[in-house]
Amino acid sequence: TEQAPSRLPSPRVAPSVAPTTNSHLDISEVTKNFGSQAVLKGVNLSVARGGTTAIVGPSGSGKTTLLRLIAGFEHPNTGSISLNGNPVAGDGVRVPAHRRHVGYVAQDGALFPHLTVGQNVAFGLDAGKLDGGRRAVRARVEALLDMVSLDPAMAKRRPHQLSGGQQQRVALARALAREPELMLLDEPFSALDAGLRVATRRAVAKVLNAAGVTTILVTHDQAEALSFADQVAIMRGGRLAQIGNPFVVYTRPADRATAEFLGEAV
Ligand code: ADP
Repeated sequence: TEQAPSRLPSPRVAPSVAPTTNSHLDISEVTKNFGSQAVLKGVNLSVARGGTTAIVGPSGSGKTTLLRLIAGFEHPNTGSISLNGNPVAGDGVRVPAHRRHVGYVAQDGALFPHLTVGQNVAFGLDAGKLDGGRRAVRARVEALLDMVSLDPAMAKRRPHQLSGGQQQRVALARALAREPELMLLDEPFSALDAGLRVATRRAVAKVLNAAGVTTILVTHDQAEALSFADQVAIMRGGRLAQIGNPFVVYTRPADRATAEFLGEAV
């Protein structure tokens, strides 16, 4: 739930301030409680611009909560989050989700079932910004569907007429419509069967890479993390137990629990 904006000081750093590092996202000592439950207990993470980070860890370890904090759907109790060097959360700063240029795709895609595929994608567009009205919206929707390797003719269908993999691509197209600088993918392929999962993952990675979008992927799948990411972070009990390049994390786990988790999940 959003706090009354009037109680918050305005952001201390104007969004136009040029970033001084190559860091896109910086999370510092972030904690999050739900009631008396401490879900995040001091998370630190940096993601380079254009980088791809996979977050892996047991169910309930806080992965989704961390993504929701980055997106701006939740707010940390303590600690801070910066995007492009500008604070967006913490220390009295609270930049709302729609001003963070962040896309979010959930596990089930969560398409609107009563809208067509085209309407779902158009929902992500800020139609007011497009000159040419409906025709421009339609052209943009078709371009977005094409970008995720879907036939533009699918725009007229309803989500339930599509396969799971196709629905996930529509969800991605809807998120891409907002032209995010940072894309958060929360187990977006987990509902798909093995073959489709690999194909969809490859298609998604290609689109995001081509667009230079910084990406954070939450996954249970070790192979997915390895093939997708240039940085892997292991989440356990509300902390990032290890962060590093995938090869190092997998060959030199920082502790026994991480080694056991990685071994178990392969
Ligand atoms: P993961 O994504 O690693 O499975 P989550 O971030 O979804 O973990 O959840 C971590 C813990 O936080 C769980 O115990 C979950 O029940 C709790 N939790 C998550 N969101 C809420 C919420 N909105 N209200 C209360 N508890 C929550």
